[in-house]
Amino acid sequence: MNPLLRVDDLARHYPVATATGQKRMLHAVDGVSFSLAAGKTLGLVGESGCGKSTTARLVLGVLPATCGRITFAGAEVSATRDRHWRALRRRMQLVHQDPLAALDRRLPVGEQIVEPLVIHGLEAGAEARRQKALQLFEAVGLRPDLFERYPHELSGGQRQRVVLARALILGPELLVCDEPISALDVSVAAQVINLLQDLQGRLGMAYLFISHDLKVVRQIADEVAVMYLGRIVEQGPPEALFHAPAHPYTEALVSAVPTLQRGTRERIILRGDPPNPVDRPAGCAFHPRCPRAVARCREEEPVLRPASDGRLAACHLVPLATDAQAAAA
Ligand code: SF4
Ligand code: MG
Repeated sequence: MNPLLRVDDLARHYPVATATGQKRMLHAVDGVSFSLAAGKTLGLVGESGCGKSTTARLVLGVLPATCGRITFAGAEVSATRDRHWRALRRRMQLVHQDPLAALDRRLPVGEQIVEPLVIHGLEAGAEARRQKALQLFEAVGLRPDLFERYPHELSGGQRQRVVLARALILGPELLVCDEPISALDVSVAAQVINLLQDLQGRLGMAYLFISHDLKVVRQIADEVAVMYLGRIVEQGPPEALFHAPAHPYTEALVSAVPTLQRGTRERIILRGDPPNPVDRPAGCAFHPRCPRAVARCREEEPVLRPASDGRLAACHLVPLATDAQAAAA
């Protein structure tokens, strides 16, 4: 079956000036490939600055890729703002971290929900639009009396529900959720996650779910990709990754969430911060921080390949799949 979203060797490089005035290239996203089936969730995790949000913006076509290819529902996504792009773009929507920034404080929230319909010239009459917005209001669990309220009159959780309703009004097949709960407190965040799961069950949307919260990603994702310095270093089903991480970076991330491993492992403290993507370390880019690094890691770059248990990993120490296993995977 063709995936809904397919990303092949995607890259985004920026020229930047160093402190000494030299021009260098920053590799924000550097050769990322993945695919996402309709109705499924791919979790994208990693420290801030690893390229998760840039990947999201590339997928949505709001940022042009330096190279690589994005295919959505069989059509290539580009950042060219033509009619074709608009039609495609309607089918994928963004939910981002800060609902207050996403909303216009001068307009009642109900009006903001119908806005995408107006922009895309979809539902003709004002009353029809209002009815549709009210249905979505209910679907995301908001009381109808909040319809005429302004964003500042709502709580953070209610505002994120408004943003969700607005994203849903065009009937998207893909929601790109970029840290959708990081601005919410824990219990409200849990409600929004339950709502997202419930909506996916009912509407069958796919989610590209970006988060640094591994517990949430484990709950919501069908597949997880771990990014480090612009590349995917491990990818597989959440249970496999969180129970038995193969890549030392995943292992360190997982060890920082005690409840994921029921106290069986000690927390692994990584040395230092992620290196500047302008100065990507030679060999394995993770080697300066890797507790398991061996001499080979400083010289030879590991590529993302199928490991013996079917997941993908980019580490010299992870046993590779045999040809037969790789073919079966
Ligand atoms: Fe660590 Fe080496 Fe594996 Fe990189 S290749 S993650 S440095 S063990
Ligand atoms: Mg981000």
